[in-house]
Amino acid sequence: DLGMPEARPAPTRRASRQVMVGSVPVGGGAPVSVQSMTTTVTADVEATLRQIAELTAAGCEIVRVAVPSADDAEALATIAAKSAIPVIADIHFQPRYVFAAIDAGCAAVRVNPGNIKKFDDKVAEIARAAADAGTPIRIGVNAGSLDARLLAKYGRATPEALVESALWECSLFAEHGFEDLKLSVKHHDPVVMMAAYRQLAEECDYPLHLGVTEAGPAFQGTIKSAVAFGALLADGIGDTIRVSLSAPPVEEVKVGAAILESLGLRPRKLEIVSCPSCGRAQVDVYRLAERVTAAFEGFETPLRVAVMGCVVNGPGEAREADLGVSSGNGKGQIFVRGEVVKTVPESQIVETLLDEAMKRDWSGERP
Ligand code: SF4
Repeated sequence: DLGMPEARPAPTRRASRQVMVGSVPVGGGAPVSVQSMTTTVTADVEATLRQIAELTAAGCEIVRVAVPSADDAEALATIAAKSAIPVIADIHFQPRYVFAAIDAGCAAVRVNPGNIKKFDDKVAEIARAAADAGTPIRIGVNAGSLDARLLAKYGRATPEALVESALWECSLFAEHGFEDLKLSVKHHDPVVMMAAYRQLAEECDYPLHLGVTEAGPAFQGTIKSAVAFGALLADGIGDTIRVSLSAPPVEEVKVGAAILESLGLRPRKLEIVSCPSCGRAQVDVYRLAERVTAAFEGFETPLRVAVMGCVVNGPGEAREADLGVSSGNGKGQIFVRGEVVKTVPESQIVETLLDEAMKRDWSGERP
C-alpha cells in the first residue's frame, strides 16, 4: 500500500471552541471548511447569487460578501435568504453595516477593527446585537490595516502586533460576555503569517480562520497558501480556510479543497498519480495526464488513477492505484486494482479508463 487516502492519519487538531456559521460548525473538532469571497457588486443581487451558486457547486462551504455601501447592506437580506451556503458580511469602516448585516440574517459578520473608527466604543453595542441574534463575529486583523496604536508600538505588522490586535479586540468582546468569535491574523508573507497563527493558537482557544492575504496571482497564491496552510494544518492549527487569489473565486475553492485533501483533512475525490515523464517516456505524459484529468472532472467516486509514461515504473505504480495506465510502444496497459485488464491502442486510453471507472462498483476494499 503506497498510502491510500483512507489509511493516512489526519493531523491532530488543536482544541478550540466552536462557533456555528449558519449550519456550518467551525472549530471544536468540526471538519475544516473552505470559504471564498464573491467578486460581484453585492448590491447586484442576481449576479452575486449566481456567483454564490457557482462557488457552492465547486465545493465552497461558506461565502463572504463585501459590504462597502448602503446598497450592499440592503441587498444582504435577500442574499442571505437565497444562498444555499452561509453568508458572511465583510464590514470595513462602517459599524452601522454590522447591525444591518446582523438584522439581515447573515450567518456571521467579519469586522476589521483596525479600520473601523472608534471600534472599541462600539463593541458593547455590537456584542449585544450579535448575541441577541446568535450571530458569530470574525475579528479579521490584516497586516495592511493594522490598528495605528499597534503600528506605532511595533513599527510594522509583526506577528506579535497582529496577535495583540486580535486578542485585544477579543478581550473587549469578552468583557461584554461575548465569545462567539473566530479570528484571523492575515499577512501577505507566509512566514510572518505562520508565526502569527502559531502564537495566536497558543494564546487563545478561539477557532481560527486561515488566510494569506493578497497572496497574488493563481500560481504564486496557490504556492503561498499551500505552504502556509499546509504547515499550520499539519500541526492541527486552522478551522476554516480562505485561499486568496487574483483569480476567479471558484479557483480559490478548488485550491482550498485540494489543500485539505492533500493533508487527509477531507476525503479525496479524484487523485491523478502521473509521472513527471523523462527520457524513457513512450507517450506524451503531460498531455495524457491532462486528458485523463479532464475526462474524470466531476467524477464523484474517490479514485486514484495512475498515468505512467513507460514500463519501468509504470506498471508498479499503476498496480497500486484503483485504475491505471502504463504506456509503451503506442499502446496502453490498463490496470484495475492491480490486474491488467486489457491493452489498448494509445488513442483509446482515456476512453477505456473512463469506461472501466464507470462500469465498476468501487465501494469494496482496495488492493
Ligand atoms: Fe520516466 Fe517511466 Fe518514470 Fe515516467 S514512469 S518518469 S516515463 S521512468
